[in-house]
Amino acid sequence: MTITTGTLGYPRIGQKREVKKALEGFWAGKLEADALIHTIESVETANWQRQLEAGIDRIAVGDMTFYDHVLDWCVRLGLIPNRFQSLTGLKQYFAMGRGVDGIPALEMTKWFDTNYHYLVPEISSDCQPQANFDDFLAKVRRSQLILGKRSNPVILSPVTLLELSRKEGSLQENLEKLLPLYGDLLTQLKEYGIEEVQFHEPILVTKETSELKEAILTTYHELANIGLPINLVTYFEDLGANYSWVINLPVQAISLDFTRGNNLDLLKIGGFPEDKRLGVGIIDARNVWKIRPQSVISTLHQIQEITTNISIQPSASLQFVPLDAQKEVNLAEPLRNVLSFAQQKLREVKMLSEADNQSFYDEIDAQWQIFKEFSPYSENVAHKLTNLKTNDFDRTLSYLERLEKQLPLPMLPTTTIGSFPQTSEVRQLRVKYKRGELTQQQYEDAIDHHIAECIKLQEDIGLDVLVHGEFERTDMVEYFGQQLSGFAFTEHGWVQSYGSRYVRPPIIFGDIARPEPMTIREFEVAQSLTTKPVKGMLTGPVTILNWSFPRTDISRQDQAFQIALALREEVADLEKAGAKVIQVDEPAFREGLPLKQERWSNYLAWAVDAFRLSTAIANPATQIHTHMCYSEFGDIIKDIERLDADVISIENSRSNNRTLEEVTEAGYAHQIGNGVYDIHSPVVPSTEQMAQQLQEGISNLPLKQIWVNPDCGLKTRRWEEVIPALKNMVEATKLIREKTESL
Ligand code: GLN
Ligand code: ZN
Repeated sequence: MTITTGTLGYPRIGQKREVKKALEGFWAGKLEADALIHTIESVETANWQRQLEAGIDRIAVGDMTFYDHVLDWCVRLGLIPNRFQSLTGLKQYFAMGRGVDGIPALEMTKWFDTNYHYLVPEISSDCQPQANFDDFLAKVRRSQLILGKRSNPVILSPVTLLELSRKEGSLQENLEKLLPLYGDLLTQLKEYGIEEVQFHEPILVTKETSELKEAILTTYHELANIGLPINLVTYFEDLGANYSWVINLPVQAISLDFTRGNNLDLLKIGGFPEDKRLGVGIIDARNVWKIRPQSVISTLHQIQEITTNISIQPSASLQFVPLDAQKEVNLAEPLRNVLSFAQQKLREVKMLSEADNQSFYDEIDAQWQIFKEFSPYSENVAHKLTNLKTNDFDRTLSYLERLEKQLPLPMLPTTTIGSFPQTSEVRQLRVKYKRGELTQQQYEDAIDHHIAECIKLQEDIGLDVLVHGEFERTDMVEYFGQQLSGFAFTEHGWVQSYGSRYVRPPIIFGDIARPEPMTIREFEVAQSLTTKPVKGMLTGPVTILNWSFPRTDISRQDQAFQIALALREEVADLEKAGAKVIQVDEPAFREGLPLKQERWSNYLAWAVDAFRLSTAIANPATQIHTHMCYSEFGDIIKDIERLDADVISIENSRSNNRTLEEVTEAGYAHQIGNGVYDIHSPVVPSTEQMAQQLQEGISNLPLKQIWVNPDCGLKTRRWEEVIPALKNMVEATKLIREKTESL
């Protein structure tokens, strides 16, 4: 039997970031809707053409979007919350995505364990779904002109959509409303001459409940009646206990991820039905490296022993990787040649399906060989890693013993999370320096000027623990990655975070080491200007790792430990430079949690250890802070405690003290920075508002455990918002202090 090929989605940004630019132009009122639509359709067409040229048999169609594919399906199905009902067309669409005066957007949250954020559907009990598939059908029509029979529409399954939504009523109830609409869509597509569609059903890798099983059975049995073959697509993990019944659903094909989880074992144990095609997601759509021929061939052979009716595919949509590695001409060739972005992955998919691909494998093997010589290997780091001792992870004294030795502070100490507004002036400075228009001296003088202003301002406002303001940093991971060896940075390696927001994650390509101190100069400048304590400010090992593309030849744990060892040196140097307080930010700590809860403990064990390795070197008298700006702590609070930070600052304003309550209920005994100011909003919170929240929040917790701070860094805010907000925050704190002192 011949092996076919397929894709599950392609990057949406365009070769020259056309889509991002068009969207932003449209929102700014500088571009007409027609022009926006034209741009998006041309990028979509170009994407199809690339996949066609690569010789892919079933090409994903319909994954392209103006903002978010989940939002697209909400609109197509008429799942429009009441507050958007008065709007129509693109106005309504973008209002749902980004909000519009007075109407808040849908909530945004992470798409499974990726760094992509989707909009959470809201379905109330009175919602009457109503289909309008015109845009989708038009896309399919257009694709057929170019792709013919290869057009393979991507549909977000109603079960996954409902499971990801905030809904009233049961899954089954809501499903019954939606299924007829999906039925109509399939009927239409069948009339168009479409031969097969993809149903994306990633929810199947996250849970194994009977409710989910029932909903899936209902869906696929009912849709089977239409007679349009379906490829049931899953990704990001294995099917677990769902495997045994999912493979017997009435579908044409089942697509599994063979780059994560244990689908290979499930396949070997459970077998695979002869009448179905297996979509083999063997090209990693979540990382940027070329295949390792030996391991891919071995996996493929094992699969083919079970079934020969297969299609080679990326493990998921290629939207999670950048477009084209060969455009990175500034990366050294040995590195560039082992990188595989979307364009290279198409070729890998195709080559794996060919009978005669030995020369392709040989070429890649040779490239990996050259890379091996090139990639930085550090004897020193390897030696340190293998010789780690238990006490490298432990501070010398317990929290309570340390507490006595640490700096004296007023009750309810006030501080900020690190960054202050990144004005265009500050950004310009960095750009000019990079272009060589400023000498190092000129650049540093200008940065120091901002630091001085920032210190003065914090003193005037009356904050207790100051920060230098992070004016020298573009991004909290990039800044450290650029100073550590083992990290590479792309020029065009954009990956969608949400809507028009794209990031360029660093690539870890070798052993990580710290050639020189990274933050000491700015710390010293700041501390020299004030008698108040200035916090040293670092990004934690887990966050640096989780926001980078990791290498695949050593474990993530080892990479986290390598970063931790580098940060450990920085912590020691900050201490030597006089820092009494050091903050190690871990905002990406929680998002690294595996999709399956049974794998949490393994991740948490090494992630906590990595943090401890980076901070345990601190003297007992040095106060270690960490920062995590989200609200779901309940299920990992014991692990947070094990970080053994003296202070953790958390989000608490949007959750109305709920986060604080959760942490308190769990008996958290260290200090907590109570994020009372929501920095994601331009609104300046009033003194009364913050005082009230503080008052309510502290009723459950000993006062000496509480700090007062904004819920994240201030870099996206404007000075006009930040100054009054911080003044009010300090004022609110004073009110509470006076109140409690007079008791
Ligand atoms: N120290 C960083 C800042 O203030 C923390 C950012 C974050 O948590 N995402 O910007
Ligand atoms: Zn934060």
